[in-house]
Amino acid sequence: MTYIAGMKSFHGADGSTTTHGFDRHFGARLDALRAHGNYREFVQLSRIRGAWPRAHWHGAHGVREVTVWCSNDYLGMGQHPDVVGAMANETTRQSAGSGGTRNISGTNYLHADLEAELARLHRKPAALLFTSGYVANLGALTTLATALPNTVVLSDERNHASMIAGLQAARVEKQIFRHNDPNHLEALLRRLPADRPKIIAFESVYSMDGTIGAVADIAALARSYGALTYLDEVHAVGLYGRQGAGIADAEGCGDTIDIVQGTLAKAFGVIGGYVAASAATVDYIRSFSREFIFTSSLPPPVVAAALAAIRAVKATDDRRAQLRERVARVKAGLDRVGIKYVNSDSHIIPVLVPGASRVKAVARTLLEDHCIYVQPINAPTVPVGAERLRLTPCPLHDDAMIECLLAALTDALGRLGA
Ligand SMILES: *Cc1c(COP(=O)(O)O)cnc(C)c1O
Repeated sequence: MTYIAGMKSFHGADGSTTTHGFDRHFGARLDALRAHGNYREFVQLSRIRGAWPRAHWHGAHGVREVTVWCSNDYLGMGQHPDVVGAMANETTRQSAGSGGTRNISGTNYLHADLEAELARLHRKPAALLFTSGYVANLGALTTLATALPNTVVLSDERNHASMIAGLQAARVEKQIFRHNDPNHLEALLRRLPADRPKIIAFESVYSMDGTIGAVADIAALARSYGALTYLDEVHAVGLYGRQGAGIADAEGCGDTIDIVQGTLAKAFGVIGGYVAASAATVDYIRSFSREFIFTSSLPPPVVAAALAAIRAVKATDDRRAQLRERVARVKAGLDRVGIKYVNSDSHIIPVLVPGASRVKAVARTLLEDHCIYVQPINAPTVPVGAERLRLTPCPLHDDAMIECLLAALTDALGRLGA
């Protein structure tokens, strides 16, 4: 390693150049991740047309057919004929891309149609699209938290990284309440001056534990303390409530939620994010959020596909009922073979396998020996020591797939001595 004075670059023994030594630092940090078992490896898949949740795994051994058990395409809408058809049709009819930001040439009439559909779904006066659920949380929360001076945001301790990013970007005071604990939230609210602007930010289904939030209780507290409610329904839209409107709707407290945030990429199977709220709230975010203004809009084929997905998901409760039935069957199977899981009322089934290297070993056995794909979940997505497999059944997992999963888990966990 030689340092060339004045050039501020390092030459490694292999002749590679690492400007300012950044690459050396990156290498050391990545080695540390590997040593702790936290280095992330992606499994390369191709989805098989019409055969979801079957997919091809493109790995070191060539291409193998696997069953996916960890997807957030909860209803398989990514392959629904209406959705695929709408995307293909709109690509042919219009264009692959939107051509710009919403402000400059990138607003399509389909954006307006989709926003109207989302507003109707959540029974709100208006809705606003973002390019993803992450961007929606970042943009909307930053904008709302900085709207009035001296705003304080009360945030559930397990809130998603995108909400945390929004609050950090807003640089406002944040008070964290214990996960899904209305009593702790009330203790914090009681100490705040009545005239201070307050926002409560929380989720309806927490994706790593599958907990369903105490939405009605938290919303009632918000009412009595004059706080704005901001609810992330990303893991609930399409799956719960009337026509898939979410948990707040299912609990009959949709009116007490001021801002609903959701994604088009999970149960709706496409891509994109949104908020639904009062006309003034939506217009304010539209007018002031950098994350809305300064980025190109969703392509028309994507918007058409999302519209088709929402309409199909609204039209029938069958898929939601099938999902519940499949989830119950997987849980009953796990009970039968004696595998512990985190029980909740949601569709998410976490199986805890503490230790980053251990959960990784279990996932590798499942994939390589049983052709079952479940991504191991480790830090920072979950705390160190709370590593897990996160099983997400969908209506299209059949009985044979479930039996395969149970046998594979029994084998893989058994080999651990777990
Ligand atoms: C996935 C997720 C998001 C982000 O949604 P995307 O559309 O994937 O960007 C936001 N909130 C929660 C709770 C999530 O799990």
